[in-house]
Amino acid sequence: MYNQHLNKMFLIANDHWAVKKTKNKGLGVFAKKKIEAGTPIADYLGKVIKTEEYDLEKDKKGLFLMYLTDVGSIYPDLGKPGPHLLNHSCSPNNWIYTHRGHTLFFALRDIKPGEELTISYLLSPKDETCKNCPHKCSCQSLNCTGTMHLSKDKYEKWQKFQEKQKKTKISKYKFGKNLPKLKSYPKNIPINPIYTQISNN
Ligand SMILES: [Zn+2]
Repeated sequence: MYNQHLNKMFLIANDHWAVKKTKNKGLGVFAKKKIEAGTPIADYLGKVIKTEEYDLEKDKKGLFLMYLTDVGSIYPDLGKPGPHLLNHSCSPNNWIYTHRGHTLFFALRDIKPGEELTISYLLSPKDETCKNCPHKCSCQSLNCTGTMHLSKDKYEKWQKFQEKQKKTKISKYKFGKNLPKLKSYPKNIPINPIYTQISNN
């Protein structure tokens, strides 16, 4: 499967996580040790590309592209283990946090060994472009909405909150190159109540 030593993106020690097959969602990332709430678990690194040059039509799922700036996005190396392997859940135990333009994944609550690490993909509300929508959710949480798309209400609330984070200083990057790892990362990310309001936790 994946060679764990190729990992550059996880910020927790290699003995704290493992990539495994899930029952119905392909691969997933699982905790091997307890992870405390607020712990940054990964930096979503990859190649910096111009968003307008990305062919969304060809990429049926379109779930790997991550926002960096209004013109640039991150596309991860799919051959290496990284946060792109986290599956979507309507009741995720991780959330995203923008730090110097980088998208960090962090634990939204204490996570027990054996639990799958999950995130909300925070997709924009479903519209007519999503016919035969491939973004159906099978997270099986009690509050599963059946789709990875957010409701209009929740999406707008999230966008408004994100606008503030986007205004923070962005670390250096070059188009066509990999986004370099930051020299340091926050030790703990404060849990803002908005995260649980937008998820269905
Ligand atoms: Zn769900």
